[in-house]
Amino acid sequence: MHHEPGLATSVSELTDQLRALGVREGGVLLVHTAFTAVRPVEGGPLGLIRALRAAVGARGTLVMPTMTDGASVFDPRSTPTHDMGVTADTFWRQAGVVRSTHPGASFAAEGPLAERICAPQPLSPPHGPESPVGQVHALGGQVLLLGVTHSESTTLHLAEAIAEVPYSVSHPCVVEVDGAARTVMIAETDHCCVGFRRADGWLRARGLQREGTVGHAHARLCDARELVAVALEHLAADPLVFLCAAGRGCEECDAARASVGALPA
Ligand SMILES: [Zn+2]
Repeated sequence: MHHEPGLATSVSELTDQLRALGVREGGVLLVHTAFTAVRPVEGGPLGLIRALRAAVGARGTLVMPTMTDGASVFDPRSTPTHDMGVTADTFWRQAGVVRSTHPGASFAAEGPLAERICAPQPLSPPHGPESPVGQVHALGGQVLLLGVTHSESTTLHLAEAIAEVPYSVSHPCVVEVDGAARTVMIAETDHCCVGFRRADGWLRARGLQREGTVGHAHARLCDARELVAVALEHLAADPLVFLCAAGRGCEECDAARASVGALPA
């Protein structure tokens, strides 16, 4: 075990910090987090989950991304998350937590609206209006970025889907068809997502983002509807606003640019 400097934040302190930030009791809360930025926390990732649950309360619903790499047939009861952090990978394994069934883009939820948020959805787009982030948006939920930036904010992919941006990249994903594993290509609005960080300036300019410290992490909180509405305004003015400029050497954004006008793969 490596040494963690600093005093561990208690679950009740974390809960107070989340409430002070503006987390709504009884609401829907979608959380993207890097535990390494929040720690040390009393009880580790489970302590952070307890604090998030306490902040939304028994009538609230907590949601986290539990996406997978698509390299094998997805089983919501056993497939580990890929690059989603230890908190999300701990959350979906808890009793009473529902996990959605998209083979690459699953989410987990706990609370009264968990089943609705994790309802079956189309394969593509993974983060459209019928996806978990689409449900969080429709339900008037909040988005909490805890120690991460808007680069991790899947809700901005929802904005891209609603705006019908002209770029689309397809990735292979293994699914089960009639009992046999098959690889399908799933089209999505993929790029490096660094451009999503522009949302900070857009939201701050209008006072639509609450910011503060939770544990040791910088925290951002906004309403999913306000985030999407602001992103849609900017996408209407420039549909490629989230992509890195051409010639900057970003291979992912260059691939997205190259897809504009091309037939779907
Ligand atoms: Zn890029």
